[in-house]
Amino acid sequence: MNAPPHNPSTQKAGNKSGSVRESTDVEPLSDKSPIGPAARGEEQTPPGKQRLVKTPDPMSLEAKPHDGKAHEWAGSRRLLRLLRELMKERGSSQAKLDNIVKLIAQDIVAEVCSIYVLRPGDVLELFATMGLKPEAVHQTRLHVEEGIVGQVAALALPLALSDAQSHPNFAYRPETGEEIYQSLLGVPIQRAGRVIGVLAVQNVTSRSYTDEEVEALETVAMLLAELFAGGEIGLLDDDTSAEGDRGKPMRLDGLMLNEGLAIGHAVPHTRGIVISQVIADDPEVERGRLVTAVAEMRGAIDDLMARADIAELGEHREVLEVYRMFAEDRGWIGRIDEAILSGLTAEAAVEKVQVDTRARMAKVKDPYLKERLSDLEDLGNRLLHHLLDLDGAEAQDLPEDMVLIARNLGPAELLDYDAERLRAVVLEEGSPTAHVVIIARALNIPVLGRCRDIVTSVRHGDQIVVDADNEQVLLRPNEDVQASFSSTIAERDRRQEIFAATRDLPPVTADGRRISLNINAGLLIDIPHLHESGADGIGLYRTEIPFMVRDTFPGVTAQTELYSRVVEQAEGKPVIFRTLDVGGDKVLPYWQGEVDENPSMGWRAIRIGLDRPAVLRQQIRALLRACQGGELRIMFPMISDVAELEAARALLEREMDREANKDRALPSAVKVGLMLEVPSLVWQLPALLDKVDFVSVGSNDLFQFHFAADRGNPRLARRYDVLAPGFLKLLHGVAEQVNKKEVRLSLCGDMASHPLEAMALLGCGFESLSMPAPSIAPIKTMIRSLNVESLRALLPSWLELPDHSLRSQLKSYADEQGVEL
Ligand code: PEP
Ligand code: MG
Repeated sequence: MNAPPHNPSTQKAGNKSGSVRESTDVEPLSDKSPIGPAARGEEQTPPGKQRLVKTPDPMSLEAKPHDGKAHEWAGSRRLLRLLRELMKERGSSQAKLDNIVKLIAQDIVAEVCSIYVLRPGDVLELFATMGLKPEAVHQTRLHVEEGIVGQVAALALPLALSDAQSHPNFAYRPETGEEIYQSLLGVPIQRAGRVIGVLAVQNVTSRSYTDEEVEALETVAMLLAELFAGGEIGLLDDDTSAEGDRGKPMRLDGLMLNEGLAIGHAVPHTRGIVISQVIADDPEVERGRLVTAVAEMRGAIDDLMARADIAELGEHREVLEVYRMFAEDRGWIGRIDEAILSGLTAEAAVEKVQVDTRARMAKVKDPYLKERLSDLEDLGNRLLHHLLDLDGAEAQDLPEDMVLIARNLGPAELLDYDAERLRAVVLEEGSPTAHVVIIARALNIPVLGRCRDIVTSVRHGDQIVVDADNEQVLLRPNEDVQASFSSTIAERDRRQEIFAATRDLPPVTADGRRISLNINAGLLIDIPHLHESGADGIGLYRTEIPFMVRDTFPGVTAQTELYSRVVEQAEGKPVIFRTLDVGGDKVLPYWQGEVDENPSMGWRAIRIGLDRPAVLRQQIRALLRACQGGELRIMFPMISDVAELEAARALLEREMDREANKDRALPSAVKVGLMLEVPSLVWQLPALLDKVDFVSVGSNDLFQFHFAADRGNPRLARRYDVLAPGFLKLLHGVAEQVNKKEVRLSLCGDMASHPLEAMALLGCGFESLSMPAPSIAPIKTMIRSLNVESLRALLPSWLELPDHSLRSQLKSYADEQGVEL
């Protein structure tokens, strides 16, 4: 079965084995030595409380000195050795399990030790116990998420409760007789990232389990997983519920991280990594293997960095530099080393640290830290390949049309695959700013993220359709579905050819209006698309993206260099540089402000720039220098009132004076603009328009504030429509006011990239649009077939309609008028 989702709202109240209360300040225990509270010398949790875990900082994962823990490792090794010996004895699987629970209970000094095994239908069955009533064995069954044991399985995290009974979701199962036990520690039994059971101990008294005890139980759980999988205990039915579904067609939802449609054969990324030996005889031998594997891995990363195609990635390479830094991280290696000293083989130690890393990832909210942790996961997999000598073994039998499936991927892991064969990537996790997504975009590979259960639902070689545009994957589609997607792809390819032919045609409407078409960019790798698409310029250069993939703040020199390259590569076409738009979901690792409760309406963009003027001034300085002798177009994001624009302009003027005083050349012209993203500004246009050269509507933010609907919330994704009469009326009014002035109006949000929406914008009076490069050709095709004046005559009457959306009216209009959408 897959590690089931955490969905506290579906928990039943009052079940045994307790469960976790949904709360933002109570998190399940998983933060263990050497970074747990005890190891940090912090206060221990008072009895009766679930332990709180602080958001971990992976940058400070330091191994503790070895000496102080020698006795604990010796204890852990002894328990593992005893368990191993016990396994060699003759007897039934049930007898072995009964002995195992006895041994563990004795060793950890607990009155109860129980093993629950996951059965088909997401049911955890009590398979063996020391301390609970024997008649409960094979009778007590809990659904995943039911009670504490169910929560351990659902979250794939350990839980330590000193007063389990007072937990609100405590489930009482009379057949077990467990009402007398107060404290409980449960850890998941996992195999290849899948939860296959739970190991739990209980005590009569209120006991605060130490981090070391949690660690020890986790190690025992790893051994149990090995025994189950290796058939030494023949109780595990491998045909779990997910397995049962693995032959059927299936549709799963996800989040579009890079657009596109692909059809191919699934290749699960973790395929082939099976750890068969968990316990080591000699830790020193394992440490030696680790040292060798780490050295090999570092050498391989260096080779990767030196590859010609990587060198061409421009500043994407920095993503990999950060990654290489992690390979040198002593804290990470130190934690693996510690796990070896507790009795594990080198590969089991790596897997153990991987499990911890995954547990942290589940809790970390900060997107940058999440990415750092997934880099560590990537490195862990790579290290396992070196330890188990798997490198290159699988390359030959990869399909020509592979769709890579993974829980998460690091950027270098993606680059390990032959880009020629890669049709798409599907991830269980992933975010728009993930490094792997940045690289995939550069390689033009569709990516669907947040696709829950994909890892456990797919088998190697399954046929799969990845429809990132519609945020879905279809597994094992039947022939009709396959045929229909194949013909859609063929039709797209055909249209691409037609679009390519429009490259040199002007974007002029059927009635003769020249529309300006521009691309949105944020990385050097986007700039060749400016020329390939035949666009007029860069309507939005998002400067924050290069800031986000670095580990330190780029200084004036580094920024000047970067912007100069943008200007140079634009070859005279205009570029609008937007100043830093960080905050919200765009987090800079080296700039940790307080976490806003409502980040998109929080301290972000120009608000930070004005409160920390040194940062904005440095950026302005770099832009002035990069555009010396030419034209600088600078745009301020998230301006909410005229005073903010004036303050930003004042900083610009100050920097210009500074440069002039230092006898540095200035740009020949400086055009100042702003993003219209906050509705308040619409009411200030008369006071504003004399102070700017251009206005660019950021429809993504304007739309979210107009409808009070978080743009990142998938539940709201299709609730409101940008073609709603009210929103179009707002845009129509803006265009009317701006077009009366000598101010250029444009729109650079997502809305501009869809033909029907772009048609509506032209109808509202917009004559300049900026969009991702692949949209230029379809939008140009629409423009060339549109009589814009006739649409403009019709549109105002529609704006008064009470409809949810004008989509159907606009669509019928396009059909009747022969507008090519
Ligand atoms: C917008 O808000 O429409 C926009 C283009 O800015 P971003 O998407 O970068 O917030
Ligand atoms: Mg915006």
